[in-house]
Amino acid sequence: GAQAREVDTVVIGSGPGGYVAAIRAAELGQNVTIIERDQIGGVCLNVGCIPSKALINVGHHYRDAISENPFGLTQADAKIDWSKTQDWKQNTVVNTLTGGVKMLLKKHHVDIIQGEASFNDNETLNVVQEDGHELLQFNNAIIATGSSPIEIPALPFGKRIVDSTGALSLPEIPNKLIIVGGGVIGSELGGAYANLGSQVTIIEGLDHTLNGFDAELAKPVIDDFTKRGGVIVTSAMAKSAVQTENDVTLTYEVDGQEQTVSGDYLLIAVGRRANTNTLGLNNTDVKLSDRGLIEITDNMQTTVPHIYAIGDVTAGPQLAHKASFQAKIAAATISGDAHARDLHYSLPAVAYTNYELATTGETPESVTEKQLTATISKFPFAANGRAISIDEAVGFIRLISDKTTKALLGAQIVGPGASDLISELSLAIENGLTTTDISLTIHPHPTLGEAIMDAAEVADGLPIHI
Ligand code: FAD
Repeated sequence: GAQAREVDTVVIGSGPGGYVAAIRAAELGQNVTIIERDQIGGVCLNVGCIPSKALINVGHHYRDAISENPFGLTQADAKIDWSKTQDWKQNTVVNTLTGGVKMLLKKHHVDIIQGEASFNDNETLNVVQEDGHELLQFNNAIIATGSSPIEIPALPFGKRIVDSTGALSLPEIPNKLIIVGGGVIGSELGGAYANLGSQVTIIEGLDHTLNGFDAELAKPVIDDFTKRGGVIVTSAMAKSAVQTENDVTLTYEVDGQEQTVSGDYLLIAVGRRANTNTLGLNNTDVKLSDRGLIEITDNMQTTVPHIYAIGDVTAGPQLAHKASFQAKIAAATISGDAHARDLHYSLPAVAYTNYELATTGETPESVTEKQLTATISKFPFAANGRAISIDEAVGFIRLISDKTTKALLGAQIVGPGASDLISELSLAIENGLTTTDISLTIHPHPTLGEAIMDAAEVADGLPIHI
């Protein structure tokens, strides 16, 4: 057969798992080759985290512009030039970041191959490129091939039935948008389009949306969504859909009754499947779970020790920062600097809904499950000067601390700035800080972050502002 080219560390996929692994491996002295079949930056930068947050931001601006406010500002009739929005999202936001990643890979002398990789055996990859194919024999491989939207056979993608990628690039703002799946992606995009003026209906199979955030946290988000005409149907099963040139009608079942809802577009957001089926893993000794996820150790090693797997192809939440964290562990392990750590100790998760939701570490349910004796303290943004002065005094901060040692175990936030505020709490958990450590840390005034200090004072029994 053809002669294989020898490479040192090969990374398959260039999302937040793959590109971070490649850069860190290069920093640690490895010769790195990265293979990408589509766009550098993966789902997150091209069709995930980043473009969705760009549209969510435009939704906030538009909503602010058209809504009545209590401070006497009237804005001349706001209009959106949607093609400009799309152009900005793609050519400024996404391309700036993917261009940056390409530059960083070059700076670290990472060899970039545009092509689709699959394993021939435990040591060899076949890479199909535009003009032929190449065999690579590697010392170490890191699989970071990510995930793809799940398609429901009865609701096939088309002009009017779209996945999240389609929903980020709709040709117009829908008058009516139907969403099957009220998880984080469905709720974020539903919230964004509701802000942009769409009438949004979410059809959810479970008895609640925003799974992973408890009812008390989700309430301000759901209240805000329904206040803007959003409809949420829970315990509902999507059955079938008819799409025409101009619209789509979904049939779903709720309480044993068939119902229909029509709209301009139907977004299917029911989850993502790991990209492991076309990787030729059956030619290797890499073991998959029955859900198609790759089994790994705490050091990200698969059942073939010199083949690693990170990101959405592994078990656990599908989050960019999880992929990047695993990437650093894999790169370090290859360089002989293993530092396995319990990833789930304080893995934060954020939903960019109105209002934002964030969680890290333990939750009220998990402390009950684990029978931990915890103090749960809360502080509302309604008592925070900054939140009131920006007219966003909604939601609260919740801290969960050990009753005896006062060590912070977990935290949840719903309200303004939750996505940025949660990092302070992850840092505290990771470093074993107590609620007293937090309340003795001077927080600048007036800031949303003061609510963290206030919540810690509540835990210590010495609240000032409540
Ligand atoms: P990916 O980013 O999926 O990258 C995998 C790459 O591998 C792709 O570029 C793919 O083309 C390439 N590839 C696959 N197979 C091959 C092959 N055989 N050969 C060569 N290349 C291959 N997460 C967050 O943390 N925060 C958010 O706000 C957030 N928002 C999201 C919004 C949306 C709409 C979506 C869809 C996802 C969002 N996510 C978010 C999830 C996040 O995008 C993923 O968790 C993350 O991208 C996973 O990173 P990864 O490196 O594992 O894989």
